[in-house]
Amino acid sequence: MKSPSEEIKVFISNRESTCGECGENLGSKAWVTLAKEKGALCLACADLDHLLFLPSGDAALTRRARKYSILSAVVLKWSHGRKRYERQGLLVEAQGLEKAEEECLADSEIRERRREREAVRREELDRQYVDQFGTRVRNLFPGCPKGREREIAEHACRKYSGRIGRSASARAMDEEAVRLAVSAHVRHGETKYDELLARGYDRWEARIAVDGAVRIVLQRWESPR
Ligand SMILES: [Zn+2]
Repeated sequence: MKSPSEEIKVFISNRESTCGECGENLGSKAWVTLAKEKGALCLACADLDHLLFLPSGDAALTRRARKYSILSAVVLKWSHGRKRYERQGLLVEAQGLEKAEEECLADSEIRERRREREAVRREELDRQYVDQFGTRVRNLFPGCPKGREREIAEHACRKYSGRIGRSASARAMDEEAVRLAVSAHVRHGETKYDELLARGYDRWEARIAVDGAVRIVLQRWESPR
């Protein structure tokens, strides 16, 4: 496997460029590689023009097409919004792409079933997480209205799902984290916080304004009804 630094990079240029070898004017959206002394090179001069473009999106196909191509290059384009180069896809050899496509077709059913199994497993983990988190909320806030612990837990689960490892999900269950989740819920649901935001308060002003109201609700919820 080639490391990222060894990969050949092809840039979709965003300004007028000229090939440093053949001298051809390449326009403002040319695909070029950068050679140390010569600057930008057109793909013909760089001997990459026989490769086929495979757009990003199909991870298995991409991985295999690269594996079966002796020569491949990553295609990058500058994103003005994100201020960084973003991967658009790969240039690969036709025979490598063909072989990859055949392989993907052959085991597509297996991969589909594996995906389904993983989705079921994730759902199960999420369900456990919501149950546990809800129980934690109910224990810390026994006076919380019926059903709210589930609402809070589902929100917390959406927030953490996929973003953290499952070992870290235990940390997300600690008292401080649960209190933060309940406070946020109270702030949005039991105070004028959202209304203040809509009226143009900045977040910190609005938080300070509703802080007392949040604390009163939390105290009420902390004592068993
Ligand atoms: Zn050239």
